Amino acid sequence: MDYRGRQKCLMENLALHRVDNVLVTHPPNVRYLCGFTGTAGALLLGNVGQVFFTDGRYTQQAKEEVEGARVVISRSNPVWAAARMLQKRARREALGVEAEHMSLAARSGLAREASRGTRLRPLSYLVERQRMIKDAEEIRKIRAAVLLASGLFDQIIQFVRPGVYETDVAAELEYAARKAGAQEMSFPTIVASGKRSALPHGRASRQRIPERGFVVFDFGVILDGYCSDMTRTLYVGRPPEQARKMYSAVRQAQQAGLDAVAMGVSAGDVDGAARRVLRRAGWGRYFTHSTGHGVGLEIHEPPRLAAGERELLCAGMVVTVEPGAYVPEEGGVRIEDMVVVGDRASEVLTPTSKELIAL
Ligand code: ZN
Ligand code: ZN
Repeated sequence: MDYRGRQKCLMENLALHRVDNVLVTHPPNVRYLCGFTGTAGALLLGNVGQVFFTDGRYTQQAKEEVEGARVVISRSNPVWAAARMLQKRARREALGVEAEHMSLAARSGLAREASRGTRLRPLSYLVERQRMIKDAEEIRKIRAAVLLASGLFDQIIQFVRPGVYETDVAAELEYAARKAGAQEMSFPTIVASGKRSALPHGRASRQRIPERGFVVFDFGVILDGYCSDMTRTLYVGRPPEQARKMYSAVRQAQQAGLDAVAMGVSAGDVDGAARRVLRRAGWGRYFTHSTGHGVGLEIHEPPRLAAGERELLCAGMVVTVEPGAYVPEEGGVRIEDMVVVGDRASEVLTPTSKELIAL
């Protein structure tokens, strides 16, 4: 990974945000910029140079992982250690902090420790915006995570039958994921059957899969730090006409969303393309969430594919397209793939079939 190039790119932007230094504390952002995979670390970049702070538990790990920054092992909180370094600066400087990730306690502690010279300036999504565009190595890792998860889905279908607990199906899936080398799941696995399929975020529960009805699977794995995310919906029993229609409307909406993903198209327009199909088919009011999100070191990261989002898609972005329809007390359908935006064409990464499977 080109950590030095990433740091340089970020530091070139600091003047634009009217700060002299930035303190990066959100672990995925720290990892992105210097390679450290632990949970307690702070990276200070700018006029002070490039300095990484962590505590004694990570001495060895920081030595092995951190690239492009001097490592300081502190006895106290790494944020306070960074503040004390700033205290020694001769002139008054502005320090950017991550508005979305800094607690009030950390902020006031930082202000107290760095009191003499430093002005704090909250910055929004500074590193996340840079992370939106993935390089070739990142795309390779994401592709591997997507393929691993996709292979698990094909294996797991055999466990799905009436009477089996949703949690048992999730357990088999997660066990197979670890056996296949996944570091962990990207998020708590969703197995939502029967009426519960109408819950867009129905985590696997102690409910038995019913004799008939939809079963929504939404899951992902983390491989080499990068996440995958996919959703498929099955039907247990023979699907009645209405269920087929619903599935087909969601599938067409998902295809319209995928077809809309291209360089220069706004994130809101991708959402619009998927939503229009569901609206015309009469399911619009049952599509209650946004169409997709970026995926990378985190399962949900910018850009958001939602109504009104003006962010333009660029080559190297990796996003999900996942429309759904959820009828309360009846059931729901969602289909989700990951797609990488290319400078000529976009590529759907998820290879799993989207034909309606009836078990
Ligand atoms: Zn998902
Ligand atoms: Zn998703």
